[in-house]
Amino acid sequence: MSTFYDEPVHLVRGEGVRLWDADGREYLDCYNNVPHVGHCHPRVVQAICEQAGTLNTHTRYLHEGILDYVEALTATFGPTFDTALMCCTGSEANDVALRMAQALTGKTGVIATDHTYHGNTTAVHQLSRSNPPPGGYWDNVGFVPAPDSYRPLGGEAGMAHARAFAAEVEKQISVLEEKGYGFSTLILCPFFANEGFPDLPEGWLDPTVEVVRRAGGVIIADEVQPGFGRLGSHFWGHEKIGFTPDIVTIGKPMANGHPVAAVIAPRDTMYEFRNNFRYFNTFGGNPVSCAAAMATLRVVQEDRLQDNAADVGAYAKAGLQELAGRHDCIGDVRGSGLFFGAEMVLDRATKEPATAFTKRVANGMRQRGVLLNFLGRHYNVLKMRPPMVFSRANVDQVIETLDAVLTETPLA
Ligand code: PMP
Repeated sequence: MSTFYDEPVHLVRGEGVRLWDADGREYLDCYNNVPHVGHCHPRVVQAICEQAGTLNTHTRYLHEGILDYVEALTATFGPTFDTALMCCTGSEANDVALRMAQALTGKTGVIATDHTYHGNTTAVHQLSRSNPPPGGYWDNVGFVPAPDSYRPLGGEAGMAHARAFAAEVEKQISVLEEKGYGFSTLILCPFFANEGFPDLPEGWLDPTVEVVRRAGGVIIADEVQPGFGRLGSHFWGHEKIGFTPDIVTIGKPMANGHPVAAVIAPRDTMYEFRNNFRYFNTFGGNPVSCAAAMATLRVVQEDRLQDNAADVGAYAKAGLQELAGRHDCIGDVRGSGLFFGAEMVLDRATKEPATAFTKRVANGMRQRGVLLNFLGRHYNVLKMRPPMVFSRANVDQVIETLDAVLTETPLA
């Protein structure tokens, strides 16, 4: 495994937004979205313990846990999404979603962006450009340039950029059709999280959705990162950018660290898949996983954590913008809710990415007790995506620490 930071962190305990290492040193967690409602949230821990002490089997037996959870989960979506299939990881969910899309369309061509990550199964790994698969990419996979609001395709931001992106998708659809695979699906994260979370207005995907529908394809929204209220304004990323996908996949934060994921789809799509593939997953949807997922969802809803994400996230962005007034290395501040960050550049005029500097900054933050990381097309975007219980006081600590680290870290 490759670990984070030049000097890896050895964690032994967590609580809320705080983590402690083996030497007793405390860290502020400004990065981990998996402990969505905070590390070791007592309600989730209790739900896991109680269910583990009562029964744990699999979905070959009837159990209320999966039914109650899927009902509660699908209630957070629009009316067409009325069924879900549970698995254990985001990779599995995307793998299933690809097969669902292929069953639905009878075609096999898949399109993704050229700077994404959708997981680690053999099929899903084909969509990852950062780690090319051994033997090269399958011929039925096409890529389109990842959206970038800071350096937009064609040079123009907003809807011109949106149309340029749609045109690239259309081009790839033609390529897949000419090769004889036909076009099955466009898979994307509606927040383009791994691409560097560009700032895209509502309606930005509309031209793309039109192109996909016209070609008879489906859209898979990979909500593994932006879902469950993180973006503040909306519960799901596809709602924020304003379109209805055909299939949604979720994972990571779903059960606060317990390995749970799901594919959400309309009933007809699910039945088509079930009839073609007879899916079974030994661990997916087991009673303990469902208890953990249900407790997590209830905490998000009852503690109004989406509202907290909106408030604290806006405060964080304002703090970063203020910092940009004093540090020229910050070229752009972006984000929504508790998913925010800053793009670092060597020169604001040329927008030359400060890739090595960004890595030094992430390491400097770690040395000062704040955990964050970096990503994006040039690996120069500081990524902050803390547990949803993050407070304004926590933001103050991040901004003060970042101010100090930016001051002491040499740019070149
Ligand atoms: N989709 C996206 C957008 C992801 O970021 C990730 C993990 N980083 C995955 C899917 C894969 O999820 P998992 O690691 O649970 O398989």
